Amino acid sequence: MPSLLEVKNVSVTFGAHKAVNNVALHADAGHITGLIGPNGAGKSTLFDVICGLRRPGSGSVTLDGSDITKLGPAQRARLGMARTFQGLELFGRLSVRDNLLVAAEMRHRGTAAARIVDGILDRVALGQYADRLADSLPTGVGRQVEVARALTTEPRIILLDEPAAGQDPEETARFADVLRDVVAGGVAVLLVEHDMELVMDVCDQVHVLDLGSIITSGTPEHVRSHSAVLEAYLGV
Ligand code: ADP
Ligand code: MG
Repeated sequence: MPSLLEVKNVSVTFGAHKAVNNVALHADAGHITGLIGPNGAGKSTLFDVICGLRRPGSGSVTLDGSDITKLGPAQRARLGMARTFQGLELFGRLSVRDNLLVAAEMRHRGTAAARIVDGILDRVALGQYADRLADSLPTGVGRQVEVARALTTEPRIILLDEPAAGQDPEETARFADVLRDVVAGGVAVLLVEHDMELVMDVCDQVHVLDLGSIITSGTPEHVRSHSAVLEAYLGV
């Protein structure tokens, strides 16, 4: 069976520099798929290609078997693709609930939107923060709210770019629980992350990118034992 998301032979060139070189990867419904690699490896560029912010020089992206390579970000969002960005982009002067409502109301009205928001706050255990202003939240909680906000659009896949940056270990552990709750509902998560402990803890599959190319893919155990990964992350 094809994966929910399939990236095939994707290349992106900036001038003479090949930032993404013939990359293939996939992400499955109900699974957390990691994408790791050193700074400059091409992770964010690949995310841009997957969510439609950048056209690849060659290759394709399919969602549930349909070729979406030529679609823009808004069309992909309507097909169920959601993305959070590096850095917080919540409305600081709105409450957590209102941040989610703004997003939910893009698809649903009034009481239906409110019901969806309350369901999500409950599902990711953020109810206690519902009435807090977003700019009063600790960084880690803000990240969780961003994921919760992405859920209000009822996505099939969520792309997360370094969500654990700026979180302390306790917040990261909570965040891992949130991700598990998300995929338990059948959503696919594609996670770009530098925190190896989080990646190895939550991911079902990990793809390793280096200098634009996938150097290995597999389970966390497989990837962890790969020599280039050891070198890049553990300095051995
Ligand atoms: P990562 O997210 O893994 O750190 P990026 O995708 O941001 O890597 O960058 C991959 C490579 O492409 C880097 O060498 C970076 O300098 C280059 N790059 C990224 N965006 C651009 C751009 N808009 N123009 C030129 N080069 C870019
Ligand atoms: Mg990046």
